[in-house]
Amino acid sequence: MNPTTHFGFSEIPVHEKITRVRQVFDSVVDKYDLMNDLMSLGIHRLWKRYAIRRLRIRPGQQILDVAGGTGDLTRLMHPRLQGNGRIVVYDLNDNMLALGRSRLMDRGVVQGVEWIQGNAEELPFANNTFHIATIGFGIRNCTQIETAIREMVRVLKPGGEFLCLEFSKMAVTPLQPLYDAYSFKVLPELGNWVAKDRDSYQYLVESIRRFPDQQTFATLLQDNGLSGVRFHNLSGGIAAVHHGWKA
Ligand code: SAM
Repeated sequence: MNPTTHFGFSEIPVHEKITRVRQVFDSVVDKYDLMNDLMSLGIHRLWKRYAIRRLRIRPGQQILDVAGGTGDLTRLMHPRLQGNGRIVVYDLNDNMLALGRSRLMDRGVVQGVEWIQGNAEELPFANNTFHIATIGFGIRNCTQIETAIREMVRVLKPGGEFLCLEFSKMAVTPLQPLYDAYSFKVLPELGNWVAKDRDSYQYLVESIRRFPDQQTFATLLQDNGLSGVRFHNLSGGIAAVHHGWKA
């Protein structure tokens, strides 16, 4: 029997997931920024700033931004290298990389940034390469989350910093019905109306519900080579930032 995995609430053959995820981002790329702003009322920008402020970025460092497609995290990290260091933006989807590259070029963020296409579960970098590895709203889409974590840990230098920003589990119980209604009723309609793609936004909502909660994900990080793992809820747990260190 073919092994299966989840794609939102559907079960699909494991080998199909990466193609389906690539198709989602091919489909939404043109309206990606607009949809992020509409869906979160711009709050995703605050989450990203908060997450990046937690990092101890210093000039001269090597940084890996996994699933970094649009370059949002890279744009925030880049000034802190003060022109000395390197950020590799690594993403499965060529179109997301092209969008990010052109956006960052428009803002003059060019020097010290490399753009590489590939799967987070197979990083083409040597062990102990990077001082910092980040992943923003990407790990939820991976077929094997633990493989992606282990790969990021592998390429971090000992003592290197790991940071993941991801949707998580709403921690304010009275708001859950409102959040559910917004997620399952409003978001797919918004996706349909703005991006002409209901299914991709239905997948977004479902994939968020399938993703481990804050504590479970923190345990996965610890079990796969990170120490000092802490998480912080953002907007009542709609998103969370997990932070840890390679031992
Ligand atoms: N990090 C950016 C941000 O915060 O705006 C982009 C996030 S976007 C929601 C998710 C990105 O993850 C997409 O660009 C997608 O192509 C990428 N992605 C999904 N699965 C991936 C995988 N297995 N390996 C690498 N990138 C992946």
